[in-house]
Amino acid sequence: MKLKKNLSDDMPLLEENKTKEKKPSRNAEFVVITYGFLLLFIALSVYFGYYLVFRSESFINNPYNNARISNLSKSVLRGEILSKDKEVLAYTNVDENGEESRVYPYGNTFAHVIGYDTNGLMGVELDSNFYLLRSHDSIVTRVVSDFKNEKAKGDTVITTLDAALQDATYQGMNGYEGAVVALEPSTGKILCMISKPDFNPNSIKYNYDSFAADDGSSVFLNRATSGLYPPGSTFKIVTALEYLNEGGQVTDEFDCSGKYGDDTYKIHCVNNKSHGHQTLTEAFGNSCNVAFAQIGLTLDSASWNELSNQLLFNADLPLVISNSKQSSFAVSDEDTQARTMQTAIGQGKTLVTPMHMALLVSAICNDGEVYKPYVVERVENVNGIEIESFSPESAGNILTSVQADELEELLRYVVTDGTASALDTEEYTVYGKTGSAEYTSDKDQTHSWFVGYAKQGEKEIAVAIVLEGAGSGSKHAVPLAKKMFDQYFSE
Ligand SMILES: [Zn+2]
Repeated sequence: MKLKKNLSDDMPLLEENKTKEKKPSRNAEFVVITYGFLLLFIALSVYFGYYLVFRSESFINNPYNNARISNLSKSVLRGEILSKDKEVLAYTNVDENGEESRVYPYGNTFAHVIGYDTNGLMGVELDSNFYLLRSHDSIVTRVVSDFKNEKAKGDTVITTLDAALQDATYQGMNGYEGAVVALEPSTGKILCMISKPDFNPNSIKYNYDSFAADDGSSVFLNRATSGLYPPGSTFKIVTALEYLNEGGQVTDEFDCSGKYGDDTYKIHCVNNKSHGHQTLTEAFGNSCNVAFAQIGLTLDSASWNELSNQLLFNADLPLVISNSKQSSFAVSDEDTQARTMQTAIGQGKTLVTPMHMALLVSAICNDGEVYKPYVVERVENVNGIEIESFSPESAGNILTSVQADELEELLRYVVTDGTASALDTEEYTVYGKTGSAEYTSDKDQTHSWFVGYAKQGEKEIAVAIVLEGAGSGSKHAVPLAKKMFDQYFSE
């Protein structure tokens, strides 16, 4: 039995030996493949474990937690920043030695709005730091990069900025210091934002210290959002609205002899020009200081203060970008007549930011509703696949539609018959207000203002322009507004 069994046992053994003789190479292959897969599985598990714990966006649930975010720069190559039409505004260059440098192809033109990422962060570089240092490149590419010890490619931030408009506006400032901001009223998209004096973000690492030390020029201040300027005659928008709110009519009449006041203080129209007999609409169109000084003296302080608060004075503006200052306005029954008259024509103590004025005219254009200005439109991965997009956000109505309509009529008259008649064209329809804001005791030194908007079909753009020390609004700010509208509507 045993023998037989052994014999019978031998048979399969022989068979098995035969099989084994035939198979050794295939088994070795199998082992290699199995261990290969096992190793890859372990590597992937370690990779994803690491990724989930240290790099995932849920771990950094606060986009402004810069200490954690800056860790990402060790594994992710900072993404690009593009204009709305995909012009490259910032990218990271890696040289043959692996040295990284941030490049801004437009130099100074986008200095404040795009900002920099050396010696701290500013502008879109600051506000989108989180997005630029995340990578949503394909998993395979990221795994391969990781194994090769290369950085993953960061996501691309696409802004709302119009590169051609920004460029034309920058050139059109003719070297004047000041600020310009352009918004799309129906969305709050920032189309253009310039502040001067400026800096070249490409060389910021070499001259940061000298800029930072020079408080006088305040090169890093974004004057579009944080520059506080006397509004000059652009403030007549607020004074006129308060007058209408208190029961005044656009047909009410005023007399101007070129100056107004008593022996202690007089308000003058530009060049002491006498505007004669005129309606409120005409006084607004001519930017008559005498009529508005008279109006100011009739207004109720409490209600005027209330209106200014409704129009976003003395409050943080509803912005989706960081760093802005509050405009300030106050009148009081205790004010002297001289002070009240100055306040009515935008001198006095009132200070505004260009962004605030752009929002105010946007609201007039948009039937009273304000949209929060924003500059980041969407985030894509390096292959152009959308990761995240941002929608317009309403900040509510700051004007009733009746108030918006009344102001729109006044702003239109300024263009058809008043101080901004250089903007009257058949190509598009402009509404606006000029201003020449005194900022020293020398009345000949004025900032040149234009605030307003233009429409062509469904396309709209609101602008606020202030050119420091440039002179009258109609002489410098209005021609710049024309350049901007021409550029925007030609696109
Ligand atoms: Zn006048």
